[in-house]
Amino acid sequence: MIILISQSTDEKALNTLKDDLDSFGLKWQILEGHDHTVIHIPSDTRDIDHRRFYTYPFVEQVHPLSDNLRLSTKKKVTEHVEVPGFIFDGKKPFLIAGPCSVESETQIQEIAKIVKESGAQALRGGAYKPRTSPYAFQGLKEEGLIHLERAARQNGLLTVSEIVSEKHIPLFERHVDIIQVGARNMQNFELLKALGSIKKPILLKRGFANTVEEWLHSAEYILSGGNRNVILCERGIRTFEPWSKHTLDLAGLLAAKNHTHLPVIADPSHAAGDYALVEGLSKAAIAAGADGLMLEIHPDPKRALSDGAQSLKPERYLALMRDIDILCKKG
Ligand code: PEP
Ligand code: MN
Repeated sequence: MIILISQSTDEKALNTLKDDLDSFGLKWQILEGHDHTVIHIPSDTRDIDHRRFYTYPFVEQVHPLSDNLRLSTKKKVTEHVEVPGFIFDGKKPFLIAGPCSVESETQIQEIAKIVKESGAQALRGGAYKPRTSPYAFQGLKEEGLIHLERAARQNGLLTVSEIVSEKHIPLFERHVDIIQVGARNMQNFELLKALGSIKKPILLKRGFANTVEEWLHSAEYILSGGNRNVILCERGIRTFEPWSKHTLDLAGLLAAKNHTHLPVIADPSHAAGDYALVEGLSKAAIAAGADGLMLEIHPDPKRALSDGAQSLKPERYLALMRDIDILCKKG
């Protein structure tokens, strides 16, 4: 950490800060510059809230220098994140597809066959939906998870579904292979802590108003609880552009990949909010180095109970998966 102090600070005032640093057992040294004075603290300061030093009126700037991303960091980590039957080793993309919501047993059965045919590994389907309006379709709840699980098992696929409350953890442990934390719950810290204490892989979406650093701190909550299988998902952030629902932040995806060993996949469907943008964004994400994709599909988007506008019809989805396969083979 370095603390920049104003040049006019008198010795007596400065001593109060020095005593404070000593009380933390920190090593420090004063560096006198031409137009500024700096206190350099080479010790590990990760457990100290650096902003507390702003309570000294003569402190102008405090730079922690090291972040607190201890377990999500790339440094020293050699293990790969695993989900049943798949290792994230960068050799092939992890592909998840399915409807926004499980709507009926027939609907999810029909979609599961298409997802299997496409070569994807996992079937998604929301059963507890975090909708903006309480009057919008809220999901089929436990019944939806049961339909999702049956359809996935019959087709040799993994299941992915979003959890919205810690009290549902036992239910999700029974029916779901990869538990999704949605954008709206990315900073629901009690939920993250609870998911840190279980063994199921977690798909952690980035909040649409969160920085990459905040997203990685949320991953730390799960990792520090002991659950090391966390997959990150960039799903678009809110920007000033109204012609796509959100903006798929590929720079953010790459920045996350530069900082962490955790796999980072992209969800172009929620970023775009418009099916016509999904194919291009999917290819761009894979070409940029995303570790996989999550896509919403529906046989009859007009009648979908949620997110129909961004759902690809089966033919377009299958064609896209063929293009993705070619793109990956080209390397
Ligand atoms: C979803 O996956 O259906 C969903 C609600 O996603 P997000 O949390 O990214 O909005
Ligand atoms: Mn959706």
